Amino acid sequence: MFIKVENLKKSYRTGDVKTDVLKGVKMSLGKGEIGVILGPSGSGKSTLLNIIGGIDRCDSGKVTVDDIEVTNLTDDQLTDYRRENIGFIFQFYNLIPNLTVGENIEVVSNISRSPLDTDEVLKAVGMLDKKYRFPRELSGGEQQRVSIARAVVKNPKLLLCDEPTGALDFSTSREILKLLQQINRDFGTTILMITHNTAISAMANRVYRMRSGEIVEEIINERIIHAE
Ligand code: ADP
Ligand code: ADP
Repeated sequence: MFIKVENLKKSYRTGDVKTDVLKGVKMSLGKGEIGVILGPSGSGKSTLLNIIGGIDRCDSGKVTVDDIEVTNLTDDQLTDYRRENIGFIFQFYNLIPNLTVGENIEVVSNISRSPLDTDEVLKAVGMLDKKYRFPRELSGGEQQRVSIARAVVKNPKLLLCDEPTGALDFSTSREILKLLQQINRDFGTTILMITHNTAISAMANRVYRMRSGEIVEEIINERIIHAE
């Protein structure tokens, strides 16, 4: 399995109160697949995604991504792991406001080991004609396209998306989900996504439903074959 999560536990302590955010989570995802995490707010979805992506730490358990034991890495190794392997997409686009679209992409490609061509990636997300625009001149959907381009330009093995359509209207959301599927197909990128959007759940290879820090349902959709 490309992603393998075993008995993952994490809790937070605030004062005397201990909150178990992940209570022994087990999940997996194959290479080139699309996985979806569903569940109510506060159920631990972002925490799980962030530990897989190396921007958060667990208390115990094991996460491997493409044979890298993420839970064993030092802080420096985690930085390299993120830089080389992971693209992040969030609900809010986090583009740098005083840089153009093209420059926002190049900030990332300049520090990547084997980046894709900026124009190629902008073309793939349908934003090449907006290369010299600034983020404030773009609609929400367009800004999310640019943030997808920024995540994809480093040619990551894994794309982690935390509610990528959470701030978008219905039809724009559909376009963004289609774009993510296209990236999965064209670049062979494995995608793990937190979403409330049932349209993508229907297209996912695996769907995990979380509740109070536990996986309460796993749906494996054998019929769906994405990129290898
Ligand atoms: P979800 O993504 O499903 O909404 P999260 O993973 O963001 O859930 O959060 C799960 C729980 O962990 C929530 O109860 C949240 O309040 C708590 N939590 C998350 N981050 C922290 C933190 N840094 N300190 C304390 N509690 C946190
Ligand atoms: P949406 O319907 O997706 O919300 P908008 O109505 O916000 O889109 O934008 C429609 C078009 O106008 C987009 O192509 C966007 O690039 C352009 N646009 C929006 N705001 C500005 C602006 N302040 N300056 C230049 N172009 C803009």
